Amino acid sequence: MTSCVITGAGIAGLLAGRALAGAGWRVTLLDKGFRPGGRMATRRIGAAVFDHGAQFFTVRDPAFGSLVQSWTTSGLVDEWCRGFNADADGHGRYRAAAGMNSIPAALAEGLTILSGFRVDAIRPLNGRWAIHGSGQTLEANALILTPPVPQSLAIVDAGQVRIPSRLRDKLESIQYARCLAALVELREPSELPAPGAIRPAQGPIAWLADNQIKGISSSPALTIHTTPEFSEAYWDTPDAELARIILRTLPQFTEATPAGCTWHRWRYSQPALVHPQRALRIDDPAPLVFAGDAFGGPRVEGAALSGLAAARMVLEG
Ligand SMILES: Cc1cc2nc3c(=O)[nH]c(=O)nc-3n(C[C@H](O)[C@H](O)[C@H](O)COP(=O)(O)OP(=O)(O)OC[C@H]3O[C@@H](n4cnc5c(N)ncnc54)[C@H](O)[C@@H]3O)c2cc1C
Repeated sequence: MTSCVITGAGIAGLLAGRALAGAGWRVTLLDKGFRPGGRMATRRIGAAVFDHGAQFFTVRDPAFGSLVQSWTTSGLVDEWCRGFNADADGHGRYRAAAGMNSIPAALAEGLTILSGFRVDAIRPLNGRWAIHGSGQTLEANALILTPPVPQSLAIVDAGQVRIPSRLRDKLESIQYARCLAALVELREPSELPAPGAIRPAQGPIAWLADNQIKGISSSPALTIHTTPEFSEAYWDTPDAELARIILRTLPQFTEATPAGCTWHRWRYSQPALVHPQRALRIDDPAPLVFAGDAFGGPRVEGAALSGLAAARMVLEG
């Protein structure tokens, strides 16, 4: 049976994995995280539940639209709203009823996924790929890399795999914005206006949402994302100092009292520049495909479409 190893079990890797497994391939997904999902992340702190990576998704492409239709029918997702403050452009914003991570959790069902497996290097081996990491070596006929591009390039470089310089320059030009995410438990309901999320026009906060109003948390739970500029400037600031700076801006939005603040640092939050192709295939010595949101577009839909394109490229033989 033909085999494919997919590094990364975010939405791009999971959809590529499902497509290849459906075509009869032996597929193994490897992810350094302890559960699938990558940036589609949900975290519980006490009674509070937070989406702390992707907050919602939009649908523009019919291929993604039909997937989302099936998720809607099964009750996995529903439309949250049609935009936030001045941004109400009429496009549906979808949420996952049990938090964003429930989507990758559902997609992972039936797939072989080795969680906690950090891929360190890949090397050509007898016309196939050898994949090294976490004290093990796997072999496969084809390989898909879906981590953020700098992380994929580190894996390629560690095995001294040569990428034609024309392609390499394009990959190296893909940079990502950082994002500091605050998960703030509140003592009282936030009373944010519907739909429970705000994009402030100025200041250090780019996004503020109440996961209780969004419908995924039984207690008031704010997710705050700081702007790319603030995140870059304050990346190494200790958590307590960050909390002091950000929480003092909270009275502009809510009178509720914070009961706790936990930080998550997204080093690769969203790509600032996207590769013109949905996935990039290199054939030496066997198919090696770069995929993820840096190829399909800097959001959930783009990553999903990139994963599907990567699977098609592998199936082309
Ligand atoms: C703060 C934030 C807010 C966002 N908001 C939105 C939003 O509202 N709407 C929207 O549509 N999109 C949003 N996005 C973007 C969206 O989350 C991503 O575009 C999408 O989830 C990317 O999916 P992916 O599969 O390409 O990558 P990822 O989800 O990053 O998956 C890559 C996987 O590779 C794994 N990995 C990395 N290196 C290795 C290694 N060496 N070995 C093994 N595994 C490895 C990682 O653990 C990860 O699970 C947001 C992202 C962030 C961070």
